[in-house]
Amino acid sequence: MRRREPDRHTAYFDLLEACKQEGCPVCTLTLAAVAHYLDAIIYESVNDPPTRMELVAAAGYCNEHSWKLRDMGAALGAAIMYRDVLRQAAKAIERQPRRDGLQIFPDRGRMRWPRRWLPGKTRAGGRDLADPHTSCPACAMREHAELLYLGVLLEHVGETEAAEAFRGSAGLCLVHLDRAQTVAGKRAALDRLLTLESELLRALDDDLSEFARKHDYRYLGEKVGAEGDSWIRAIGLVAGKPGIR
Ligand SMILES: [Zn+2]
Ligand SMILES: [Zn+2]
Repeated sequence: MRRREPDRHTAYFDLLEACKQEGCPVCTLTLAAVAHYLDAIIYESVNDPPTRMELVAAAGYCNEHSWKLRDMGAALGAAIMYRDVLRQAAKAIERQPRRDGLQIFPDRGRMRWPRRWLPGKTRAGGRDLADPHTSCPACAMREHAELLYLGVLLEHVGETEAAEAFRGSAGLCLVHLDRAQTVAGKRAALDRLLTLESELLRALDDDLSEFARKHDYRYLGEKVGAEGDSWIRAIGLVAGKPGIR
């Protein structure tokens, strides 16, 4: 079986490489780790009992990661694994008397809707509007990769090579900037990271202002420069790369 977890030994070099690519480097590496994980499952572990049991226990991948299977063209893998999940749901329907409620998802994943969305007054008001697939194994891998790469970034950000690489990147998206605070061991490392991030945010702000200025009719004749895609870069930095959350 191919390894499914990002490699700790190459994480630093992966990070330097990712800094050269578009968008948040931690998004880049995390999405690659999740894609690699799903790939290994689909092509090598569909018939691995622990893998299938884990997915049944989680009641399938979350919405995002379930549809990734279709994007990957994982027809047979999805057929086999999701048949397991649906058989489990069918069993739950047969087994559980209605008054006890239907336990589809593990732990706190049971779907609850706001009272005003429910017919009559027979059901309790809801709390959880998020995807109830809170135990998605691919989400767990995403979490693992995010923490690994943020940890490596913080560990090395005080060194010239890593700092220069990060300076050349798009910067951390807000999702990962937020996460970085929960990973930071030493205050100095986080401070260093935040200083570099501020520089990148200022540079993007300048590009966005230039972009807006050139949209003024008085300057419409001016050539579009590096600021041309700044609005897309801004979306990426606010939201993270598509599929990160
Ligand atoms: Zn990110
Ligand atoms: Zn997921």
